[in-house]
Amino acid sequence: MINLYDLLAACGGQLYGEAASQLFSDFRFDPSQPLETALYVAHGNDPRQLERAVRQGAAGLLVSEPPSFDTTGVSVIVVRDTLEALKAWIEWRLERLKARRVVIIGDSDATVTAEVARALLTLRHTVCGGAVATDWLSLARALVPNDGDSRVALFRASARDEALFDTLAVLRPDVVIAPGESAAVIERVCATLDEDGLLVLDQRDMAGAAGQRVSTVAVDEFGADVVAYNVVCGLSGTGFDLRYGGQRYVGRWTSLLGRRQLRAVLCGLAITPFFDIAMDDALQCVKGLTPPPGYMRALKAEGGGLLIDNTADASPASASDMLDWLQAARSGGRSVVILGDLHIDENQSEQAHRALGNRAAEVADLFIGQGAGAAAAIRGALEAGFSRSQATITFQPAETIARLRGDGPLRADDVIVVAGGAAAGMERVVRALLADPADAGLLARVGHETPQLSFEGPTRQSWIEVDLEALANNVRQLKAMVGPHVELAAVVKADAYGVGAVSVGRTALLNGAQRLAVASIHEALELREAGVQEPILVLSYTPPSFARHAARHGIAITVYDAGLARAYDRAAAATGRRLRVHLKVDTGMGRLGVLPGEARSLMRLLRSLPNLEVEGVFTHFSTADEDPDYVAEQARVFRSVLEELDASGARPGMVHAANSAATLAFPEYHFDMVRVGLALHGLLPSEQVRVPETFRPVLSWKTFVAQVKTLPDGHPVGYGNTYRCEGEQRIAILPVGYADGFRRAPRHWSHVLIRGQRAPVVGRVSMEKTAVNVTQIPDVAIGDEVVLLGQQGDTRITADEIARDLGTISYEVLTSILARVPRR
Ligand SMILES: *Cc1c(COP(=O)(O)O)cnc(C)c1O
Repeated sequence: MINLYDLLAACGGQLYGEAASQLFSDFRFDPSQPLETALYVAHGNDPRQLERAVRQGAAGLLVSEPPSFDTTGVSVIVVRDTLEALKAWIEWRLERLKARRVVIIGDSDATVTAEVARALLTLRHTVCGGAVATDWLSLARALVPNDGDSRVALFRASARDEALFDTLAVLRPDVVIAPGESAAVIERVCATLDEDGLLVLDQRDMAGAAGQRVSTVAVDEFGADVVAYNVVCGLSGTGFDLRYGGQRYVGRWTSLLGRRQLRAVLCGLAITPFFDIAMDDALQCVKGLTPPPGYMRALKAEGGGLLIDNTADASPASASDMLDWLQAARSGGRSVVILGDLHIDENQSEQAHRALGNRAAEVADLFIGQGAGAAAAIRGALEAGFSRSQATITFQPAETIARLRGDGPLRADDVIVVAGGAAAGMERVVRALLADPADAGLLARVGHETPQLSFEGPTRQSWIEVDLEALANNVRQLKAMVGPHVELAAVVKADAYGVGAVSVGRTALLNGAQRLAVASIHEALELREAGVQEPILVLSYTPPSFARHAARHGIAITVYDAGLARAYDRAAAATGRRLRVHLKVDTGMGRLGVLPGEARSLMRLLRSLPNLEVEGVFTHFSTADEDPDYVAEQARVFRSVLEELDASGARPGMVHAANSAATLAFPEYHFDMVRVGLALHGLLPSEQVRVPETFRPVLSWKTFVAQVKTLPDGHPVGYGNTYRCEGEQRIAILPVGYADGFRRAPRHWSHVLIRGQRAPVVGRVSMEKTAVNVTQIPDVAIGDEVVLLGQQGDTRITADEIARDLGTISYEVLTSILARVPRR
């Protein structure tokens, strides 16, 4: 509990008005959550946030200015700076608790070390804390529940967070565990460590330590103070012999898996003398430890096999340790590695993923990589000689599961390891594979981890969210619509209409599409580079100088001209491979394609060129979304060309004509294959041709509110003063503009969504900013999510609606959101 008068004394605050309550259950800062009897800590004094906090039940407010509204029934504490006040309270509290402070520094591995340390310390002491030590609010919260009887306060932190050293200066730790940190970090840590304190380091990181007592740990390396050797990695735990000071402890065991976790155990053991914990008790304790969710946590898979959930720790080091463990521990059964995108700096991602893929090739019987980063791991495995039939790239959990089950039911002797970052959502894969759904409570990111508390809002100005499950659904329905005898080609040109060619293409192929189509050879090569092995057709012009790339990579291209055809033939000859081509006929659109009268002679030429293989013939409708009569006319012309080719014995295998609109509206023109682009994204080609209700939109575009203000009657908004407030209006400013593809002229978006309601765009759209009128929407505040395209609550803004606003088509709405807007 937080006592009002303790807090006032600690932080030198002023009570504003009467004290309504004296005890608070917690410090909170999110006013949209129910606060019950908590003290709401305001950062900045947005009166709306404060009012919201009071409505949500806050018993007290910690603010830097007295609120302007009625605060009856609430204790208001006014301080100069709320974060400084929390800091002062933390210092006061630590002093009062007389707790010894242990800080564990590290990245993801600190979590396991903290669990081990907590378990060991609890053998003799009351332990509080457990929070991330670089955030005043979470530190303060961690110290709330104790009533003076804690003897040890435990925190963890990352040295990558510069705020760490500020907090260490306040915490003044007695013990710091910092394996794997640089000499510079260790030196700074030592400066905050108590004189009689203890520092636990890796044997290798001794350099920066000076002064204090140091205890070193190592696995299989002698010379450290705490050494584990004769390590045996097993399916249910890790065996080791221990050398500690002068003593040996032979044949010991911990239930934690792998060498990385064994090191966490050693770090825990290294502090036991400092806290008067007997080694025998400590060794007994580590036998039965349970790792935190998502850290090499063993679960039971469907089919009875072992499922290792390593989805919380998305570092390459952890994934690599996981593969080492798999190799050491594997028994007779299959070893299955499922890897989602790991947390790696963008410029190192490709290489690090590839290296992991190389390693996985040595230990896995089946290897599934989910996502663009993990695709590089698959390429790494193939490079290392892994067989294509055992390696798969997927883009979402459902496909990963489908691929895994595609090899038949899972078996009792399977060992399945799953790793990958939060963004990859790999815990959903783990959840789907659980033998007992009740174990879902044991997964990472289902409420076990305290969410990272931060006063900062979103890191991007605007972003795109892609729902690949919606895409998969649309593709499956399209495939069902055309039936088993018609091929579905997914058109992913222009980076899949701006959504992402690789992810859209892979998802389409995994859900019923048999082929991809793109506009240029460059796009096709990118797909090959990303590991797509299925057939790819280039629909537009291919420069002859690139024809050899097409031949080498088995990419089919479009021909419509005799001169080009001869050049392609020569280029293919140089590669020693035949180049597949599709003949394009212009049946009335007046765009790319040979005219009907010349189709037969061009086909005769193609057949005579030895290095070309004619795979198909096609045309394209110009009015499939608006004029059925003209479609029929084009189809009639196309059929007569086909008959002519037939008559000369030269009809090629594949005939295709239909785009999205024709696929949906004219089953009679499906021929052997349909080429679907827009409908993949759940969008309707036109007013006349609609996608079925069951199709779902794939893409949303979002931003947030950067400012809210009230402007008086007549006040202008935006460049050129083209808009003036009619009466007093509340205006919200959004950090998005035409430089992102949020169009300015001749017409702009008419509305956006905020709090599930439509807010009209007012004034001119600027390069990076846009104003909307939120007078009718209560409670709009800085940081509120804004939907530019997509759904919020029950309200939706569709690409078709925006297309009407802008006077264009939904295709252009999608493709004009600029590539600089991040996709996720
Ligand atoms: C773009 C394109 C398609 C796909 O069109 P949608 O209307 O998006 O389905 C099909 N065929 C050709 C030749 C294309 O250029």
